[in-house]
Amino acid sequence: MHNEKCIFCRIISGEIPSDMVYVDDLFVAFLDIHPTTKGHTLLVPRTHIGSFAELSGDVAAALGDRLRKIAPRIAQAVSASGFNLILNNSADAGQVVPHVHWHIIPRYRTDGLRPWPSTTTSPDELREVAGLITTKLKDI
Ligand code: AMP
Ligand code: ZN
Repeated sequence: MHNEKCIFCRIISGEIPSDMVYVDDLFVAFLDIHPTTKGHTLLVPRTHIGSFAELSGDVAAALGDRLRKIAPRIAQAVSASGFNLILNNSADAGQVVPHVHWHIIPRYRTDGLRPWPSTTTSPDELREVAGLITTKLKDI
């Protein structure tokens, strides 16, 4: 499905130029126009779907397979020593473009980035949160 208002749909159709690095029947990958690090790439399903959970099982499985193959090669191509895979799901999580996409961010020893801030919690709170999540995951 193509959404004329979506910048990624318009990149996929070729209407908006991009630095495309990979295409197949289900996905495209192109360079992020505002890279966090050199080689920052977006892997994007061709179908306009807003959120990760809406992907079909088949496309989600294929997505994992492409990430597994593509991310290490991107890192190698730009002489990075690692990479982060990030998906911002929903506006509160930082999603700006409402077309699901993975960020592949090459990492370098000297890039000075710390991927996640951390907090301190208590064992009781951890147990309570684990209970909430475990209950929710029971009927998968
Ligand atoms: P997100 O915040 O997860 O929705 O990420 C959207 C990403 O798309 C941002 O990192 C932007 O820099 C990137 N972006 C926006 N417009 C373009 C474009 N025309 N070409 C390449 N990347 C883009
Ligand atoms: Zn789209």
